[in-house]
Amino acid sequence: MQIVRVALPLPLDRLYTYLVPQAFQRWMRPGRRVVVPFGKRQLAGVVIEAGLEADLKGYKARDILDVDVELPPLPTELLELTRWVATYYMCAWGEALRAALPPGSSQATARSRVQTVAMIEYNEEGPEAPPTGARQQAIVEQLRIWHQGEQTPVSQARLLAECGGTLATLRRLADLGYLFIEQEERDRFSEERPDIVASTRPQLHAAQVDAVDQINTALASGTYHSFLLHGVTGSGKTEVYLRALETARQAGRTAIVLVPEISLTPQTVRRFRSRFGDEVAVLHSRMADGERYDAWRGIGEGRYPIVIGPRSAILAPVENPALIIVDEEHEASYKQFDPAPRYHARDLAVIRAMKNGATCILGSATPSLESLANARSGKYTLLDMPERVPIDGTPARLPDIRIVDLRSEPELKGTSRALSTRLVKGIEERANRGEQTILLLNRRGFAPVMECSACGWVPECPDCSVSMVYHRPLNHLRCHYCGITQRPPSRCGSCGHADLAFLGAGTQRLESELAERLPDVRVLRMDLDTTSQKGSHHAILDRFGRGEADVLLGTQMVAKGLDFEKVTLVGIIRAEAGLQLPDIRAEERVFQLLTQVAGRAGRAELAGEVLLQCVNPAHPVIQYALRHDYHGFAEQALATRSMLNYPPAGRMVSILFSGPEDDKTLELADRFRRLVDSRLPDVDRLGPSPAFVHRLKNRYRHQLLLKIPTHVPASRVREGIQQAEQALGSLPAAVCMTIDVDPVGLV
Ligand code: ADP
Ligand code: ZN
Ligand code: ZN
Repeated sequence: MQIVRVALPLPLDRLYTYLVPQAFQRWMRPGRRVVVPFGKRQLAGVVIEAGLEADLKGYKARDILDVDVELPPLPTELLELTRWVATYYMCAWGEALRAALPPGSSQATARSRVQTVAMIEYNEEGPEAPPTGARQQAIVEQLRIWHQGEQTPVSQARLLAECGGTLATLRRLADLGYLFIEQEERDRFSEERPDIVASTRPQLHAAQVDAVDQINTALASGTYHSFLLHGVTGSGKTEVYLRALETARQAGRTAIVLVPEISLTPQTVRRFRSRFGDEVAVLHSRMADGERYDAWRGIGEGRYPIVIGPRSAILAPVENPALIIVDEEHEASYKQFDPAPRYHARDLAVIRAMKNGATCILGSATPSLESLANARSGKYTLLDMPERVPIDGTPARLPDIRIVDLRSEPELKGTSRALSTRLVKGIEERANRGEQTILLLNRRGFAPVMECSACGWVPECPDCSVSMVYHRPLNHLRCHYCGITQRPPSRCGSCGHADLAFLGAGTQRLESELAERLPDVRVLRMDLDTTSQKGSHHAILDRFGRGEADVLLGTQMVAKGLDFEKVTLVGIIRAEAGLQLPDIRAEERVFQLLTQVAGRAGRAELAGEVLLQCVNPAHPVIQYALRHDYHGFAEQALATRSMLNYPPAGRMVSILFSGPEDDKTLELADRFRRLVDSRLPDVDRLGPSPAFVHRLKNRYRHQLLLKIPTHVPASRVREGIQQAEQALGSLPAAVCMTIDVDPVGLV
């Protein structure tokens, strides 16, 4: 009797044994997607070991229910990579494999399987006499005409739409010999793809030539190499990616390009498709399951040598990629949180490249401190493009950034207004000249943080140098790193002012303020509300690109990857917003955002200006952004991180306990903390303390953060955590423990 060992998407790190019915035996091989019974459920899993023989006696294993014969088996490389993911990110192999299958296919439904369509062909040797009945005659006549015009086979749907009738009519005509019905596979993916527009291939400028040369050498060597491409906004990074892709394709090789979901704009996609046409498969999170299934199948069959997509594309079944590109590598959205595997796609890109002897390019105008540290230590080769693409020989200038100090805008005091006179005038001038403005409202500023409306002072934890977070139910401030609590101050701790406010101004309010102060200016708003529908994000950008509005107003979404030549002004409503968040990367995020959004101004011939509204112009982050000084910022940020043993100076693991009862959950977290302490004495830990979102969906959450010095190997930390987990025993049914390796952002 043949058996297979299958990995299932369950949080248990083991394989499950199933019997293989005779009919399925020839399909069994590692990497095959199968459907199996599990308790009362059906689950889709991946075959890990096949061709095993078992003695039937004493075997309780159940039969495999179905095999997905259409989806090519996952290549060995991906089986190995997902095994690595499972180990490193501490999840089950089956969970890691789930991320490598077309999303939606972990349920054992037939929904996303191959679809066929009925195609109708005229039978030239059919009966001479027409069929009886007007409808049948009409169908045969129409089909004959199309056939003569070489337009057959034609889809059943089209034929019936033209002539009326039903499937039964067609079947009857097929029986009579007038026509053939053939089932043809549908490719829901290629049906969705837009047309290709040709574009010019510019002459590279010197910094690009140098970057492309080094990348080409690495590609030709056939051995692993990673590059950090640090190029200011508009320096021509995308052109470098395109040339590297050309080299890979000329050698007949494959590639993966990761971009943040938000940058998957029609503009970006067009640029890649105009060079590589139908070789490119674009994945995005809004694809329907069926479309995605067909995309995955096409990639696995080798029909699309270039795959572009957000983080999940790093696990696409591309055969042996020679080149992996991560654009905007600093983006937090490359980290997956729920469900497991909690992987970082940028880090996985480097690992996958390493395993394949491939070339990896990480590109950004504001590289993450992790990648910068890797470049400095020699793990990555740094490629610098410090200037914008030249126009007529001289590099285009970075925009001038000017500060608007909101403290000297008395007319805003005591009002809900958020726009300084200078910014309003700037918008008006641009609109009159037929130019455009982008206004950024940083939504991360909506955290409940108190702030002095006179000087911008924010209450901070005495021990941790992070801002205290306001908790309304208890009316206190708390540090989310050490747990200290305080009563909210009634006066500013810096200037004594009595007016302490909560940060945040909504995009809607800003929109109405604009309507009131500049009634003739046309505004488009882009935030979560206006982009919830499929395609609406692209629709808004398209309209703005066509000049249907003077102002594009929005959250972070407006900051990234856009390239509009008419935009000459960028306004930032509150530059400090987000600095106060209790996140070790808060300052890095704000610096990146300010730099990125500033880069939207003056991308073409027209000079750009950025107006940065703030109340604390002396803040180092704002000063560095003002001077376009990435290295200055990175220098001081790295020093702080290393003093506190935060990444990249060390690693972190977050362990989150959540349960319906607050004290019991905390108790469990604390017991776990003691178990970890005794096993990993050289690892620092913070907490357990209430998570940033303490109560979520009626569950209380407590977080333990491990700070791991660089000299402690990851494998030892893993063992320590696993041993502590075993010692803790099984958790009460309602309590969950979530391990997040290299966490990013707040939980
Ligand atoms: P980045 O990705 O660094 O922001 P892009 O690659 O988008 O920069 O380049 C900015 C603009 O300059 C694009 O419109 C691109 O087509 C154009 N461009 C890039 N390289 C060159 C070049 N060598 N010569 C002329 N135009 C270029
Ligand atoms: Zn603290
Ligand atoms: Zn103050």
